Amino acid sequence: MRFHNTLTRTTEEFKPLVPGEVSLYTCGPTVYDFAHIGNIRAFLFDDTLRRTLATEYEVKHVMNITDVGHLVNDDDDTGEDKFEKGAKRENLSVWDVAARYTDSFKADMAAMNVLPPNAYKDDEAGDTYARATHFIDTQVEMVKLLLERGHAYLTEQAIYFDVTSLSSYGELSGQELGDKVAAVRDEVISDPDKRHPFDFAVWFFTVGHYADHVMHWPSPWGEGFPGWHLECSAIIHATLGDPIDVHTGGVDHIGTHHPNEMAQTEAAFGHPLARVWMHNEFILVNGTKMSKSKGNYYTLADLVNKGFHPLSYRLLCLQAHYRSELNFSLESLESAQKTLLNLYAWADLRHQGNLSEIQLAPANITEFIERVKTALADDLATPAALAEVFKYTLELAPGMRYDDEDADNVLTELDNLLGLQLNGRPDIDDGAKAIIAERQTARDARDYARSDVLRAKLQRQGLDVDDTPNGPRWRRTKLI
Ligand SMILES: [Zn+2]
Repeated sequence: MRFHNTLTRTTEEFKPLVPGEVSLYTCGPTVYDFAHIGNIRAFLFDDTLRRTLATEYEVKHVMNITDVGHLVNDDDDTGEDKFEKGAKRENLSVWDVAARYTDSFKADMAAMNVLPPNAYKDDEAGDTYARATHFIDTQVEMVKLLLERGHAYLTEQAIYFDVTSLSSYGELSGQELGDKVAAVRDEVISDPDKRHPFDFAVWFFTVGHYADHVMHWPSPWGEGFPGWHLECSAIIHATLGDPIDVHTGGVDHIGTHHPNEMAQTEAAFGHPLARVWMHNEFILVNGTKMSKSKGNYYTLADLVNKGFHPLSYRLLCLQAHYRSELNFSLESLESAQKTLLNLYAWADLRHQGNLSEIQLAPANITEFIERVKTALADDLATPAALAEVFKYTLELAPGMRYDDEDADNVLTELDNLLGLQLNGRPDIDDGAKAIIAERQTARDARDYARSDVLRAKLQRQGLDVDDTPNGPRWRRTKLI
């Protein structure tokens, strides 16, 4: 396998630190609002990576949930807290905001068939996501280490990481310390005691601007709450142990969040955080950046309300490489949905035994699956993997016949890789089968009027019938 490593700026042969096993960490959502489809693309990329790694390795996957400490403007530690903002908007407590959007995130991931993380269990929450608020002690411990080792300093308002104390700072983004100057904004309060604009808070005190911050915890230095960047380093240290093999996130994390994560771990523990850093590109909507004010902003629920199946969006994302910008439009989603229907029509052939006589040898199946895997192992070349799938399914399908065991194998393998839920689709009910048989009898008797009436009846049930030399074949006209 080979993957593009943002850190080395090259596509490298992948080798895990421990043979046979991969540790994978993903920066999860900030749960103060619904995820939009750009956020969801990041988790789909990550899921495809995990499924690809799983073809050769045991994958230990951890993902955090940011339920505290994320400010509207994290680049310079200023601005409103996202949870306090959400709480005001919805007249809920900050805790309820976090709980509500954690639930909606989990529902989105389930609908997209994204595998939940598997290497950490939160007994209190009853799931496998690592909540920042459940790792406060670990974060306080890290702050202690950073202060002890001279990588952090205290002001009245916060404890900051001193970026000048670490020569490797900014290695990921390629930025020099002199490059960026913190933006000065009228509406925010910045700390006059902060030494360098790149310095970032690892702990905020509940004083001044944040005196009324609802979420706060005791620390040896005073009551407060952790800075956003800290949680990922702390959670990785507590769950997977560092260094990990692969760390993923969106390209928006290359500039600040990931360099800060790296710096904290290196400074506190004396070794790097991760060996391979992978980042997915953004989506554009009709060629422009998605934003609520432009009216081109979509959540998964928005797409479902427009009649789209969540997995149509999954397929659309697979059609683009994760390192390319994806230009989303409702037309492209419509076309992905049609393609998904065709794939499902192919998968549903397994319920219709009486097809042609071309038997697909098991060797062909193995070879086909290998070609899909090979494409994915080449830096997740999902468009090439899908091209193999279409070649196999849509070109061979008209004459294809497979026995049930072969069908199970091929569909399960494809589902493991692409997550499109081809296997386990139900057969149609006996009533619909009876109508198909009755229609065939009418056709055999050249009673085409009757046959058309019966076809219309099937169509009302969401089924279409193709008449082939080998008899009728049904396909669903709606995604179920
Ligand atoms: Zn992170």
